[in-house]
Amino acid sequence: MTTTDWRKLLCWLRAAFPVTAKVVVSRRKIKNNCARTNCELNGRRNMFRVYIDSKQDKSGQIDAILHEWAHIRAIEAAGFGHGESWSRNYGDVYSLWESEYNQ
Ligand SMILES: [Zn+2]
Repeated sequence: MTTTDWRKLLCWLRAAFPVTAKVVVSRRKIKNNCARTNCELNGRRNMFRVYIDSKQDKSGQIDAILHEWAHIRAIEAAGFGHGESWSRNYGDVYSLWESEYNQ
């Protein structure tokens, strides 16, 4: 996936599903996982660092960032894990991505 396409997707995600925390996303080689999100406190504000495994193909990278973004939304709403809030957010993110973005 080109950097231009990647930045475009992130830009769309940030606008369509805003979060209050600062989110820094980077693509790099990751062992044993397709993505990872760390949450840290930056002053009084939450900051998320999202790492997407760059060894994945385009659709894998897209799945991974939509997945992680839903985590951030869910964490801001309700806490960690793959609970009801994460599922709802993932569904919302994926549906809109499919209808608006995946053309
Ligand atoms: Zn997850």
